[in-house]
Amino acid sequence: MVDKPTLAEKIGELKVRKNAVILAHYYTRPEVQDVADFVGDSLALSQKAAETDADIILFAGVYFMAETAKVLSPAKKVLIPDPAAGCSLADSCPAPDFAAFRARYPDHKVVSYVNTSVDVKALTDICCTSSNALKIIQSLPRDQRLIFAPDRNLGDYIKRITGRDDIVLWDGACHVHEKFSLEKILDLKKTHPAAKILAHPECKKLILMSADFVGSTSAIIDFIGRDGGSQYIVATESGILHEMKLKYPQVELIPAPPIDSTCGCNDCEYMKLVTLEKIYSALANETPEVTIDETIRSRAERSIRTMLELS
Ligand code: SF4
Repeated sequence: MVDKPTLAEKIGELKVRKNAVILAHYYTRPEVQDVADFVGDSLALSQKAAETDADIILFAGVYFMAETAKVLSPAKKVLIPDPAAGCSLADSCPAPDFAAFRARYPDHKVVSYVNTSVDVKALTDICCTSSNALKIIQSLPRDQRLIFAPDRNLGDYIKRITGRDDIVLWDGACHVHEKFSLEKILDLKKTHPAAKILAHPECKKLILMSADFVGSTSAIIDFIGRDGGSQYIVATESGILHEMKLKYPQVELIPAPPIDSTCGCNDCEYMKLVTLEKIYSALANETPEVTIDETIRSRAERSIRTMLELS
């Protein structure tokens, strides 16, 4: 078996030879982030996918992210190292059920988080990410009735911040962000009183209400830079710690503990399916490739482009 540094070099050579770009999400393995041309959150990655002039986009992340890249760059070859890299949040909103739900609210506009399948995006008026959800909602007239999907925690957070109590929420969630234990986080605060709690808005309400800062992965990273503290309890997927340690080596970062202590980690197992071996294989063989029906793609594109224009 080829060892990892050599594999990383071979991936680098293939990238240049094939004019490919590797986009990686913050939640992927550290060694995957290290071979990427760009590492970011969902919003930044979709912006990069829209503007790249590479012939091939290799998406080191989960399936809906690669689909988003294909929607925005239909003429490019979009590769996903492991098509089984799904997302519990996207899976919590099946398109046929969502179509029936939407039909019950004919005068509502649909704002959907990008963590959805392309079929749900095709049923959406405006997409959003955790970075821009508030901005997107606040850009819409106060009397415009809204459905927000699929994350109930982010939706509930937006309702509280904007005071728009009439937003109708789809009842979906991410299994990683729902498993943090408030009790254990508060116990950690007792032993680390100077530590600030940083939470992603997909976490449950009581954790968000206990947090010193709530924001997307990028916003959490930026907050530490502005805040200048020395200790943080981080309530989001553990992959983000890699970028944080690179940026703030002097800071103590404490992963928020999950409810199930036998689990012992906050990993998204879907993100961790992406490995260097699979990236190399996908680039070498130019497969697995993401393909999307054109009618669905063009409908989904409208909702994503509207988001990008407002971001
Ligand atoms: S962390 Fe949650 S929302 Fe993000 S990809 Fe994994 S399952 Fe989906």
